[in-house]
Amino acid sequence: MVRGRNDISLMTLLDGEQVSHFRLREFENRDGLAMVHPSVLLSLERVRRDMSGAFGEETWLIITDAVRTDGDLKRLAARFGWIDEGGKVSRDSKHLTRYGGIAVDLVAVLAESRERVSQPSLGRACRKYFDWVKDDYADGHVHADNRGVLGKS
Ligand SMILES: [Zn+2]
Repeated sequence: MVRGRNDISLMTLLDGEQVSHFRLREFENRDGLAMVHPSVLLSLERVRRDMSGAFGEETWLIITDAVRTDGDLKRLAARFGWIDEGGKVSRDSKHLTRYGGIAVDLVAVLAESRERVSQPSLGRACRKYFDWVKDDYADGHVHADNRGVLGKS
C-alpha cells in the first residue's frame, strides 16, 4: 500500500462551524477506492457530536465498511450469502459505487475507556440523521445510508 494514500481530512460545516473528524482513507475499499457523499459526512459528524455529548466524552465513530465495487459485493456474498437466497447481502446494496458513497457501516467506541457503544444506542443516534439504518447485525455493526439523496438531482 502506498504511504499516505487517501490520508486527507474531510471537512464539513456543522452548525456554522468547520469540523473534521474523518479522513478519506476511512472510507476506502481494500483497493483504496474511496467515495463519500457529503450528506454522509454531515450525518456522521452530527451523530458523533450527539454521542460525545450524551456520553460526556469523545466518542469515535469507526467506519468498518463504506464503498463497494461489484467485486467487493460478490466476495461479501460468498461469505454471508445473498438476501434472496437466505443470506445477508443485498444485490442492490447502497454501498455500491453507483450510489455515490451514501452508505457506511460503523461502530462507536468511547475514546477514554475504549468501551464499545451498544448497537441499539448507536442505531438510535444514527436514525436521527440518516435516511435508513439497520442495527440488527450479529457482529454488532450498524448500517446507515442516505438513500433519500437518490433521485434528487
Ligand atoms: Zn452496510
